[in-house]
Amino acid sequence: MAQLLKGADVAVAIDARTAAKVAGLRATGVVPALAILRVGSKADQLSYERGAIKRCEGVGVVVNQHILPEDVSNEVLLDTIRAINGDEAVHGCLILWPLPNHIDAERVRECLCPTKDVDGITEGSMAGILADKPWGYPPCTAAACMEIFSHYGFELEGKRVVVVGRSLVVGRPLSMLLLARNATVTIAHSRTLDLPACCRAADIVIAAVGVAGLLDAQHVAPGQVIVDVGINWNEVEKRLVGDVVFDDAEPIVAAITPVPGGVGAVTTSVLAAHVVDAALL
Ligand code: NAD
Repeated sequence: MAQLLKGADVAVAIDARTAAKVAGLRATGVVPALAILRVGSKADQLSYERGAIKRCEGVGVVVNQHILPEDVSNEVLLDTIRAINGDEAVHGCLILWPLPNHIDAERVRECLCPTKDVDGITEGSMAGILADKPWGYPPCTAAACMEIFSHYGFELEGKRVVVVGRSLVVGRPLSMLLLARNATVTIAHSRTLDLPACCRAADIVIAAVGVAGLLDAQHVAPGQVIVDVGINWNEVEKRLVGDVVFDDAEPIVAAITPVPGGVGAVTTSVLAAHVVDAALL
């Protein structure tokens, strides 16, 4: 049986470190605060927001919600971000994505003050990750995967890691974080030839695609560590599933994250940790 890499255990460890830092900050009169900006009321965003608020408040981070209607104008949205930028009591800002189609997402990204970009959406944060410089924060999901490797003691140096997915939110930044830890990284994507063979040749496979059950028994090999970032709704079974067919992979590999209860359980802990680090600056 594969080792189950439970996100909750990782989250508890991160939260303990974060809460200790918050106690130190509060003793000096600084109350770390996160602004959450949401446009509309999509169910998955509401669910993530609830989780983020619970996690932040649990470690002593205050959360201010900014909720705008689905048909909000670009200018009102940008003005809201400017107000958050100018609020000295706020240390980080999470903008829930995706934004409605009529919103200019690029302007939104670049409007956010880089020092408050705790989810790595600005070009400055991305440049920092690419250059391996501490100019900002990586996206929380990418950082959450790295926290899982650290917590469970998986060495990355020299390891062959295949990251399936090349999005700016997960695949690309995560690949750079792995490279910075001296892993040998392959980025696989929708045009990759023979994905099963590519994945089987790796020591570690990270699936960040958003296609339920894309990776099955033919994509995995004995001894591998599998991290499944995907969160997909299975309409037939009425439950969340990952990009990996868990029941196919689990008997073969050495370790695997469940969905739900894997990467997703760590992401909001990383978010709270980033806010506290921003407050320490
Ligand atoms: P995205 O749609 O932006 O990117 C998907 C990537 O997968 C693309 O780079 C694409 O090239 C690749 N891809 C698509 N089809 C493929 C195929 N057949 N073979 C190989 N690669 C293929 O998605 P995203 O925002 O990166 O999210 C990916 C998944 O991670 C989603 O299920 C999302 O819900 C989940 N997610 C989870 C968390 C978390 O906290 N656990 C956070 C963010 C996203």
